Amino acid sequence: MVTPKMYEKLARLAVRKGVNVQKDQPLVVRASVRDYAFVRLVVKEAYEAGAKSVSVNWADQEISKMGFTYESEETLAEIPDWIHEQTKSRQEAGSCFLSIISDKPGAMADVDPKKLGAYQRAYYQKMGDLQAYTMNNIGQWCVIGIPSMEWAKVVFPELPEEEAFEKLGDAIFSVTRVGEDNDPVADWDAHDAELIGHAEKLNAYNFKELHFTSELGTDVTVGLVQDHIWVGGGCFTPNGVYFDPNMPTEECFCMPEKTAVNGKVVASKPLSYNGKVIENFWFRFENGKVVDFGAEKEEEALKHLLEFDEGSSYLGEVALVPYDSPISQSGILFFNTLYDENAACHLALGRPYPENLKGGIEMSEEELAAHGANSSLQHEDFMFGTKEMQIDGICYDGTVVPVFRNGNFVF
Ligand code: ZN
Ligand code: ZN
Repeated sequence: MVTPKMYEKLARLAVRKGVNVQKDQPLVVRASVRDYAFVRLVVKEAYEAGAKSVSVNWADQEISKMGFTYESEETLAEIPDWIHEQTKSRQEAGSCFLSIISDKPGAMADVDPKKLGAYQRAYYQKMGDLQAYTMNNIGQWCVIGIPSMEWAKVVFPELPEEEAFEKLGDAIFSVTRVGEDNDPVADWDAHDAELIGHAEKLNAYNFKELHFTSELGTDVTVGLVQDHIWVGGGCFTPNGVYFDPNMPTEECFCMPEKTAVNGKVVASKPLSYNGKVIENFWFRFENGKVVDFGAEKEEEALKHLLEFDEGSSYLGEVALVPYDSPISQSGILFFNTLYDENAACHLALGRPYPENLKGGIEMSEEELAAHGANSSLQHEDFMFGTKEMQIDGICYDGTVVPVFRNGNFVF
């Protein structure tokens, strides 16, 4: 059972290890109004850690949904200038950003996908120049989750409400490594060190490509860009501040070569996209591009995802996650990428992370493209790792090195 003390420990972990707020640095918190009690703990902890100021951007999923229901597509696509200005001035002040998630997955299922798409495209276009701040880790940022009744009912529909809430809470706190008696900050230091160790080994091999197969029918070769960097654990800002952008995280991730992906990928978990839950889907890649796809449920949403822009049908990320990771072992499908992407090996369609390329953070879009990086306004992760996933790394001299056997690292 999650106790009040554990909420306090989670707040401390998010502030001290997640965003790692520095003395006299502003913090911006994004949260749902339902979580005000936890947000108070976070704000207090941040001030005690030396934050210069703490601002909270409140949201409410039901009110957002009303906007998508009642406003026209044209209105939704009009993103006011002040939204851009607000984030811009906060970035210029050197703020760090903490997002606390607890929304109900699939809540937008009955909203017109054209409206959601129009809003998202307009939003990303308007805010495009501000994405580098977090994408390139210029300032610290972190995403954590806490349980809500609405979310719990989706994850455990068969259980009575209270029991579902308790079970989701136990799962979230356990995979985030926050218990009644442990020191979560110390446990995260040890966990980060292990992830960094895997990334160092992968970097030493400097694979040309990875070949993935699974019992679901995945058989795909994913080329990696030259001079790639595998990243695991936390990140550093240019000023040398260490932070953990995702809590939990279990992945080591890298940058695929845009045009060097060939074969079939079968997803192993549903994907929650724009409030829709896409199920049992697959893609076929040719020279990097998705040339065919299918889904048993919400195929239309998958089509919108792929047609979002030119780069959204190419890969931007390949990530290795052991089948033995705590999230995978929990066997729970959270219907939220922060958790589910850490349960399994995954790929992302769309924008890559420049930190996965040597010198990438300083490169222009054109330079990144010249190095084989994809480009898109969107980044959508989906899971394809399984219990029997096999991965071979293929070196530039043709040597084949086993990387995963039966879902886990060989080394
Ligand atoms: Zn990832
Ligand atoms: Zn990703």
